[in-house]
Amino acid sequence: MQKSQCPLCQETFEIEAEWIGQQAQCPFCQQVITIPPPSQLITHPGTISGTTNITIEENRPQKSTASFVLGIIGCIVWLIPLIGFPVTIVGLILGIRRKYTVGITLNVIGLSLTLVNSAVGAVLGAQGKLF
Ligand SMILES: [Zn+2]
Repeated sequence: MQKSQCPLCQETFEIEAEWIGQQAQCPFCQQVITIPPPSQLITHPGTISGTTNITIEENRPQKSTASFVLGIIGCIVWLIPLIGFPVTIVGLILGIRRKYTVGITLNVIGLSLTLVNSAVGAVLGAQGKLF
């Protein structure tokens, strides 16, 4: 038995190999068709490509969100270097791993602010002028 397909209704069916290239009646649409060889099976392009597209689009934003959120947090908590450093460093690593430019930029800003704040704090602290 060979797998073949009706060129009119695109239903697939099994048929004796000797029928390939012969005229026969389609068991589904009852039209007289020329039985095509198995290599000419028509695939439905919509189904397969549709599902692969969805999985790719679902994965991407989820992975870069962590870096984005950490960058936002880093821009807020830079006033407290104890929190600002770990948050922005983790966010920066995540952003670089995902090649996520927005995440990298936000965390670089957050990290810079944390560095400036702790440097200023250290200088003021050394001079005995802690807020
Ligand atoms: Zn048919």
